[in-house]
Amino acid sequence: SGPEVEETKEEKLKREREAREAEQRSEFEQIQEARKLLPMFPYRDDLLKAVEEHQVIIIVGETGSGKTTQIPQYLYEAGYGKLGKIGCTQPRRVAAMSVAARVAQEMGVKLGNEVGYSIRFEDCTSDKTLVKYMTDGMLLREFLGEPDLASYSCMMVDEAHERTLHTDVLFGLVKDIARFSLAGVLFGLVKDIARFRPDLKLLISSATLDAEKFSEYFDFAPIFRIPGRRYPVDILYTKAPEADYLHAAVVTTLQIHVSQPAGDVLIFLTGQEEIEACEELLRQRTRGMGSKIGELIIAPIYANLPSDMQAKIFEPTPPGARKVVIATNIAETSLTIDGIKYVIDPGFCKQNSYNPRTGMESLQVTPISKASALQRAGRAGRTAPGKCFRLYTAWAYQHELEDNTVPEIQRTNLGNVVLLLKSLGINDLINFDFMDPPPTETMFRALEQLYALGALNDKGELTTLGRKMAEFPVDPMLAKMIIQSQKYGVSEEVATIAAMVSIGGAVFYRPKDKAVHADNAHKAFHRGNVGDHIALMNVFNGWAETNFASQWCFENFVRSMKRARDIRDQLLGLMDRCEIELVSNPQDVEAIRKAITSGFFYHTASLQKNGSYRTVKNPQTVHIHPSSGLSEIMPRWLVYHELVLTTKEYMRVVSEIKPEWLVEIAPHYYSKKEIMEQAAKKLPKTLGKAAEKA
Ligand code: ADP
Ligand code: MG
Repeated sequence: SGPEVEETKEEKLKREREAREAEQRSEFEQIQEARKLLPMFPYRDDLLKAVEEHQVIIIVGETGSGKTTQIPQYLYEAGYGKLGKIGCTQPRRVAAMSVAARVAQEMGVKLGNEVGYSIRFEDCTSDKTLVKYMTDGMLLREFLGEPDLASYSCMMVDEAHERTLHTDVLFGLVKDIARFSLAGVLFGLVKDIARFRPDLKLLISSATLDAEKFSEYFDFAPIFRIPGRRYPVDILYTKAPEADYLHAAVVTTLQIHVSQPAGDVLIFLTGQEEIEACEELLRQRTRGMGSKIGELIIAPIYANLPSDMQAKIFEPTPPGARKVVIATNIAETSLTIDGIKYVIDPGFCKQNSYNPRTGMESLQVTPISKASALQRAGRAGRTAPGKCFRLYTAWAYQHELEDNTVPEIQRTNLGNVVLLLKSLGINDLINFDFMDPPPTETMFRALEQLYALGALNDKGELTTLGRKMAEFPVDPMLAKMIIQSQKYGVSEEVATIAAMVSIGGAVFYRPKDKAVHADNAHKAFHRGNVGDHIALMNVFNGWAETNFASQWCFENFVRSMKRARDIRDQLLGLMDRCEIELVSNPQDVEAIRKAITSGFFYHTASLQKNGSYRTVKNPQTVHIHPSSGLSEIMPRWLVYHELVLTTKEYMRVVSEIKPEWLVEIAPHYYSKKEIMEQAAKKLPKTLGKAAEKA
């Protein structure tokens, strides 16, 4: 052999680059191979043919068959991208982001270029974007700027079976623009022919088999079924009801880990707090077991999880280890995680419920439906036979679970949607073509609330204020609060508070083993004890002063607020567009609370003799959430952000107000007499610290 020649630096770099490229190429090729193995793939050409022949089709296929990731790509490959964007809606933010990232990878492009996503307060698209994933709520907002969806050639309304409020409203809107009714034009029923899009391809896709209802609604659109591949799943029930399903889920996980063959575990819980508690419990319990057991990789997934941590659920499990994914409902049908063999289903999810009679809306942990239970179990049998551990009895399954989940439109406040539809010029809401109409009472409540907020006039028409409110992608009460904040000279503070309440409230972190430290750190933010809104503002401002240092969050036991910062930036931009002046006066806590009350005067309560609270209008008994800084102080009058129903109906994020503000701010809603009568009632001296003072 010849003499060894030393490699030059350039040669070395070149060699390394080539190796890297080869690796990427082979990864890309592997992904292309994997795409061909999906149940969807053999039906690619038939599907494209059906799309060509029909304007609307209903697609049914089991979770994981490739509907969400593949169909938009097929449409793109078939050239629909040349005619306009290919849109795909998702009910959940995390799903939209995660799926877009996956599809960008499959297409070998950078996320945000050809493939992008758009979710509330975050737009990751560009001029180049042709395949666009978005939340159903974002597409609704796009109608405001583009009522005929002119920039799209195809729209896939995905996860239709979830029947979220926004998806249901979308059904009505897309059906309307896709349908060209000659009769409508001839009889003058249709005024604006230009709004119709006979060329827009509509795909409605669902993971459940009852597609007839969708088909019927869309004028008997053809149903395209993708046969699923499913392995048997053994369903095991508990013999007696579980008192503490979180504990039971942890115990079951550990039992699986020590006694069952390889395969990952998926636990369904109801929200971030539960998921964090479960994670902590699992870590505690496995710490003591040391090297006696295989590695347990814990991967949580919920809406507010920072996106860099979301990817962890998809990372392949190394041999000898076991992954435990702890998820909300998001893993039921929106995301498919390969390798799951064991599902633990406690049988609950978090749902909003709405009482149109009292106007009260609250989030509550609710038993799931049989349909949901079936979907959850199905997650265990995607790639091999699996097991599903239901943490409830077979009797409970048979007798206590409803067959199907009630569509959200029938159990939620419609204020937001009504404001949006009014802004789209849809005035006759009673005759809007809903698949399942909301209760009339709920509709009237929404109109009444929008009237009280000043968004509608007494003829039910949108006011200038209402038009401005619709610009903000937030609840009407929050929008009103933001718009009014300038008047009180505190628009910057109110933008901060609006951003903080929008991240879901779980800002203060309180690990069990450091509870005292956490409480002390949190106390500093509640200085002055005027309320949780101001405390949230103090947290944000404290973080901002350190130039947004994550170390500061860690030391002060607060969770990541990056999303709050992004939301705040977006709100400031929207405020600028709506010509709301940015004024600041962080010391004037009274003005800040008045601005909050100007949006939330609906959400007020006063202290009663028995130590509970009663909502001021439509009297209902409520309580201050134990996490509130005011839970022991118990001021006489409160404004609250939201209600959460657990063991009791709790007000979360509350601030003290003065009763005379209600009359000053909302004279059309509260009469002076009614407020003064309530304020004059004597309360026992022993009630709360604030009551003592008074
Ligand atoms: P469907 O919409 O029919 O439920 P998807 O298109 O979401 O199915 O998923 C198809 C397949 O793509 C999944 O089975 C999974 O193997 C793969 N996949 C989807 N998202 C990811 C991801 N983020 N990382 C890795 N694989 C993924
Ligand atoms: Mg899907």
